[in-house]
Amino acid sequence: MCLFCKIINKEIPSEIILEDENFIAFHDINPKAPVHILAIPKSHVNSFNDVSSDMMAGMTIFIQNIAKEVDIDKSGYRVITNIGDNGGQEVKHLHFHVLGGAKLAWTHLSDSNPKAFL
Ligand code: 5GP
Ligand code: ZN
Repeated sequence: MCLFCKIINKEIPSEIILEDENFIAFHDINPKAPVHILAIPKSHVNSFNDVSSDMMAGMTIFIQNIAKEVDIDKSGYRVITNIGDNGGQEVKHLHFHVLGGAKLAWTHLSDSNPKAFL
């Protein structure tokens, strides 16, 4: 069973923000911003590559509700999902990073020339 499935089953403790029948949101253990929450589906999906549009419809509302719950909906926030090796995905269970609580940096994200493929 993957790490996030263990969190869903409460075998590994987490600080839960919001939970419903299909999704759960909890604080990232290594926050990269004052607010750093992970939103995941309760059924195991490897990555964004494999998610259905039906599940994404529910996830969209769930993430909107997280932003309201922690009061970052008006001040602004960022939603990120890392996919595969180049995306930097470490946990192979679909998750959306919800980052906010301060003005977020937007920096150069790769070591190679960003214009190399233009
Ligand atoms: P990824 O790099 O796969 O996009 O993101 C995985 C995230 O999961 C990282 O931000 C990491 O800090 C977080 N993480 C890893 N293990 C745990 C854990 O046991 N509990 C919590 N709450 N977050 C975790
Ligand atoms: Zn899983």
